[in-house]
Amino acid sequence: MVNPSLGEEIGPVPVGPAGGPREDELLATLRRLLSDDAPGVRLGLGDDAALVDMGAHLGVLTADMLVEGVHFDLATTSARDLGYKAVAVNVSDVAAMGGSPRYGLVSLGVPAAVDASWVVELYGGIRDAATEYAVSIVGGDTSRSDRVVLSVAVTGEVARGRAVTRAGARPADRIVVTGWLGGAAGGLALSRADPHVVAQAVGWGWGHELLGAHFRPAARVGEGQALAGGGATAMIDVSDGLTLDLWRLCRESGVGAAVRLADVPVHPALFELAGVLEVEPLELALSGGEDYELLATLPAPAVKDVASGLRDRFGTTLMEIGEIRAGEGLTAMDRDGNERPMEPKGWDHLAG
Ligand SMILES: [Mg+2]
Repeated sequence: MVNPSLGEEIGPVPVGPAGGPREDELLATLRRLLSDDAPGVRLGLGDDAALVDMGAHLGVLTADMLVEGVHFDLATTSARDLGYKAVAVNVSDVAAMGGSPRYGLVSLGVPAAVDASWVVELYGGIRDAATEYAVSIVGGDTSRSDRVVLSVAVTGEVARGRAVTRAGARPADRIVVTGWLGGAAGGLALSRADPHVVAQAVGWGWGHELLGAHFRPAARVGEGQALAGGGATAMIDVSDGLTLDLWRLCRESGVGAAVRLADVPVHPALFELAGVLEVEPLELALSGGEDYELLATLPAPAVKDVASGLRDRFGTTLMEIGEIRAGEGLTAMDRDGNERPMEPKGWDHLAG
């Protein structure tokens, strides 16, 4: 992927301070390779989205790819859900900058064996999400490929001075997260379980919630803007797991973080799931990934107002789970105030 002849120019692939995953190491290399000072680029590679000059606002640019066998399995994922999710995860990256999504480009690679009706369903799901998030799909491409590959790019906009990157967290800032965590990972585990277990869980109600969290994630657009307006100093969406995404935010901000485990908002349905499958609810909430909740840092005095704003306007809970500290690395705190180092764990797209 990286041209070997450029090896000397860009040097050895760096390893993150806490030994970050392969994806992060490769990204750090590509960031150095592609970095330039082109006029109009306010923020390039390495955040949830890029920021560029675009008229009166800053343009927010992001792209995400879903690959069969890596991100989804055709046997358990419907075309409609896949199309919906591909748009929602991009919108989530725009939300994590405090922006509003506007336009989308959809590119699809599809094997000859896949039915035209499957492709039509896929675009039906894309349209559903586009309608939900007020995104206009304005172009893209299609090609034959040996497996389904769906790549979506979304542009958005954010008022100048209102964009929130991963880089602004300061010691003593409070760490907050929207909604519940671990639901999507629980839904993935459930979707792979015995069909009788799945049917029973759906019948009980909580199974439906978990499957929905996995197959139809919600992007927190209004919440992202409210967090930005409320003074968020840094923000990221939780795509790869709380600890891994918090570690990324801390690395960009040059700080460390302490998390109170008892305050992590573990999705309540995970305790039901733990009754039928071997899963650890807290573990899924800390490192499950794909929840697309927003993880942000706020000055302590701002937390209360932002939390009540999110509850009143969107019905979304905002949980304070810890604080930013000087230094580096993650610390876990238990109920008794004991502290231990916490490794960033989550979904590494290159390790699979
Ligand atoms: Mg992101």
